[in-house]
Amino acid sequence: MNTKVALLEARKLTKYYNVTRGIMFSSVARVKAVDGVSFAVSQGEGFGLVGESGCGKTTTGKLILLLEKPTSGQIVFCGKDVASLTGKELADYRKSVQPVFQDPFSSLNPRMRVGDIICEPLVARDSPPRAAVKQRLQDVLQEVGLAPRSASLYPHEFSGGQRQRIALARALISRPQCLVLDEPVSALDTSIRAQIINLIMGIQERHGLSYLMIAHDLSVVRHMTTKTAVMYLGKIVEMSETRDLFGHPLHPYTRALLAAVPQLKPGSMQKLGLVEGEVPSPLDIPPGCRFHPRCRFVMAICRESEPELRMAAGQHQVACHLEF
Ligand code: SF4
Repeated sequence: MNTKVALLEARKLTKYYNVTRGIMFSSVARVKAVDGVSFAVSQGEGFGLVGESGCGKTTTGKLILLLEKPTSGQIVFCGKDVASLTGKELADYRKSVQPVFQDPFSSLNPRMRVGDIICEPLVARDSPPRAAVKQRLQDVLQEVGLAPRSASLYPHEFSGGQRQRIALARALISRPQCLVLDEPVSALDTSIRAQIINLIMGIQERHGLSYLMIAHDLSVVRHMTTKTAVMYLGKIVEMSETRDLFGHPLHPYTRALLAAVPQLKPGSMQKLGLVEGEVPSPLDIPPGCRFHPRCRFVMAICRESEPELRMAAGQHQVACHLEF
């Protein structure tokens, strides 16, 4: 039985975009980018969200960061529906859930000094005393392995790995409870990736942080998380303890992904996109099971009826008509 306390929950979260045409912007289609996604990230847990490009994992992250508004569903943080938060409570949520994005260069303002970039979230929200900000800045620089003098430099004076350390420092300065890490190492050189992965895991351990790790890289998710959900065309098709999911994958999509990757070693950075056949357009989602045009176990029922995510064994959930 899972007795961990959920810090952050997505409950039946959806995000649909209308596709419009003509000068009247009449709606001609709907893209279901996120289509009824539910999961829970426990206190102190690393939770992985994996899937091919366009599966909805980044949009899910944006919904959690309140960068996009859900079409329906709930985000629940510490037991409270985030949609009901206003004023200080809403500001506290934004402070508690911090992002780190893939490209540290484009997410850092090139005209600001690093110290100002890092302190911006703290100063903008709390206006704390200068001395306290200065001390906190030195603490987070040390935490992410940057020299104190880094504060007076500009982002272009740093390497890619160092810039991601700056992005981490900016996320950590307001003492968050949860990080949303969207492909945090995929833009980095192989030699640097392991350093940043170890840095994030060390910080998580020291502070009991939770994180949602969004990645298309199976080895990163396997190494950094204790629970994993696999997304396909806007839906979660499999979710389990990471060790169980990688050791005993059930869904044909997950099995095909793992079969296409013979060795999953940290640092080897095995990427998705190896399953045969193209991902269907989100504008034209296949009826029944969304994976059926690519599935080698497809049955008649799969073309008509969409399988629900169900408990298969222990805490292992799968959305498939096959018997497990
Ligand atoms: Fe394959 Fe059918 Fe399972 Fe979908 S429901 S993954 S088509 S066996």
